[in-house]
Amino acid sequence: MTLKIGIAGAGFSGAVIANELAKAGHKITVYEPRNHVAGNCYSSRDVDSKIMLHHFGPHIFHTDKAHVWNYVCQLGQFMPFTNRVKARTQGQIYSLPINLHTINQFFNAQMSPIEAKNFIANQADSRIKEPKNFEDQAKKMIGESLYQAFFKDYTIKQWGRSPDSLPASILKRLPVRFNYDDNYFSHPFQGMPLEGYTPLIEKLLAHPNIQVKLNSTFSAAMKSNYDHVFFSGPLDAYFDYQLGRLPYRTLDFVKETHQGDYQGNAVINYCDNSQAYTRISEHKHFTPWEEHASTVIFKEYSREATPDDTPYYPVRLSDDNALLERYIALAKQQENITFVGRLGTYRYLDMDVTIDEALTVSKCFQESIISKQTMPAFIEQ
Ligand SMILES: Cc1cc2nc3c(=O)[nH]c(=O)nc-3n(C[C@H](O)[C@H](O)[C@H](O)COP(=O)(O)OP(=O)(O)OC[C@H]3O[C@@H](n4cnc5c(N)ncnc54)[C@H](O)[C@@H]3O)c2cc1C
Repeated sequence: MTLKIGIAGAGFSGAVIANELAKAGHKITVYEPRNHVAGNCYSSRDVDSKIMLHHFGPHIFHTDKAHVWNYVCQLGQFMPFTNRVKARTQGQIYSLPINLHTINQFFNAQMSPIEAKNFIANQADSRIKEPKNFEDQAKKMIGESLYQAFFKDYTIKQWGRSPDSLPASILKRLPVRFNYDDNYFSHPFQGMPLEGYTPLIEKLLAHPNIQVKLNSTFSAAMKSNYDHVFFSGPLDAYFDYQLGRLPYRTLDFVKETHQGDYQGNAVINYCDNSQAYTRISEHKHFTPWEEHASTVIFKEYSREATPDDTPYYPVRLSDDNALLERYIALAKQQENITFVGRLGTYRYLDMDVTIDEALTVSKCFQESIISKQTMPAFIEQ
């Protein structure tokens, strides 16, 4: 059975679903309000320096899912890349995530792993039995001084909220390693696409059954033109914000061009209040196999999104998500539409999770046509 499918959004969510359903024989139309595909993973070469730029923030592909790694590797060549982030705080430069090097440098010591483990256990605030908020949780896990240096101001800059007003659940695991592993991610697969992310998405959309309409916004009124719609735009936008706006953080990227090497590393976080930005990313270090005489950096500032801003991070920071619950209830009443991706389900999703969910949704959709099986609703997670 060939169906007419409408897809809102040409990021990884929309492109993966479009490709899977086009291969199954359906006729797909993808709507994208921007003048380019690839969503927030959009990358292109800087006109002057030719450095590959990630326009919506630095994107490093990492996953523990072998099938997702194999999937992206057949879309384009990935180069080895390990993200090693540095942190500036209290006048020093440290290694992140907090590891044995960070601890020894911070406390001016030469501890072994077991000594450091015992030391940090002693630093931890044992008076806090039931952490009531993020600040309590951090102090209970790593103690006052590491919390002050690496978490307090950074969290305020990133979320615009005091850590004692954020739920403890945000800090689930002890963010400390008792060895010298400074690989920012713990996943076994990590890499950078040789020519950036945009060609990967273009390849997914280059199927004769897929028509891509750039500069085109999908609205609820267009749903009746399709047998089924996959919507990866903002959940509240689909309902024309009738219940109010779901809160987002947006980012301002201030671009600078310099000669040579600006900071010697791809990402340096600014954990204290000495600067208003949260981090500086220097994009030529994401392609260490290339050589460029000049360099492009972005200073990243976080703030509350207004209606005119690009939504970056959903603010799911409170245990009370009453507005979201009401939108989810509205979404569940709709027929022939599935809300997908980071905006459609209002969750922070890494690229690998986005791709995995899009593959699952596509498979379930195909099976639902045959066996009337119900579709997964990631929106409720
Ligand atoms: C600053 C930042 C850094 C990140 N870094 C990493 C990283 O290092 N590694 C990693 O794995 N992940 C990273 N991510 C997450 C990554 O960006 C997401 O996983 C990915 O973008 C999700 O893809 P998506 O298709 O769901 O959403 P998007 O890429 O946002 O695509 C949604 C698309 O829908 C379009 N749209 C909106 N409204 C409509 C409408 N009404 N009709 C039609 N289209 C519409 C939008 O224009 C957009 O192109 C980062 C995210 C941010 C914010």
